[in-house]
Amino acid sequence: MFTLPDLDYSYDVFGKYISKDIMELHHSKHHQTYVDKLNGAIEQAPELAGESLEELISNLDNVPEAVRGVVRNHGGGHYNHSLFWKFMSPDGGTEPGGTLGDALKAKYGDFQGFMDAFGDKALGVFGSGWVWLQPDLSIVTTPNQDSPLNSGGSAPLLGLDVWEHAYYLDYTYKRADYIKAWWHIVNWHEAQSRYKTAS
Ligand code: MN
Repeated sequence: MFTLPDLDYSYDVFGKYISKDIMELHHSKHHQTYVDKLNGAIEQAPELAGESLEELISNLDNVPEAVRGVVRNHGGGHYNHSLFWKFMSPDGGTEPGGTLGDALKAKYGDFQGFMDAFGDKALGVFGSGWVWLQPDLSIVTTPNQDSPLNSGGSAPLLGLDVWEHAYYLDYTYKRADYIKAWWHIVNWHEAQSRYKTAS
């Protein structure tokens, strides 16, 4: 059985950038629903029990057709949100240092160049989806609750949820303002550590 991960911080910690109300709904309702529906699918297809979340969503062809859509959407939702909570920190928001900071500057000219490229991709997601920074430093988007794992890609270094549920209460339709605020809480330590593991 999959379970909702605890957060490393309280719901109100990003107040100015992401409200307590959004954090609480997003974690305790949206993410919980992904976990519950994924568990429901595993109950219907017990041969999947024991497979890791990454295995499930990386090999959807091996998932029985009757539950494939549920595993894709809700397993993906569980995977993406479990990462997303780690990609933010009350101590975040500084420019990335270390090898990742250097590599991003080399690829995008400077850190602002990277933020602009990432922000453009995030704004370009039509409807609901995600934008990801990959270990090769490319920036990719996925629809719905897909992630780079669905298409055989690597686990991301960083990712931003651009579903309206992630920002509408605070920013209404102004996704650009949400993206701008998010840079203040990005957990670059997590991204750097994932970069180190991936390279
Ligand atoms: Mn979400």
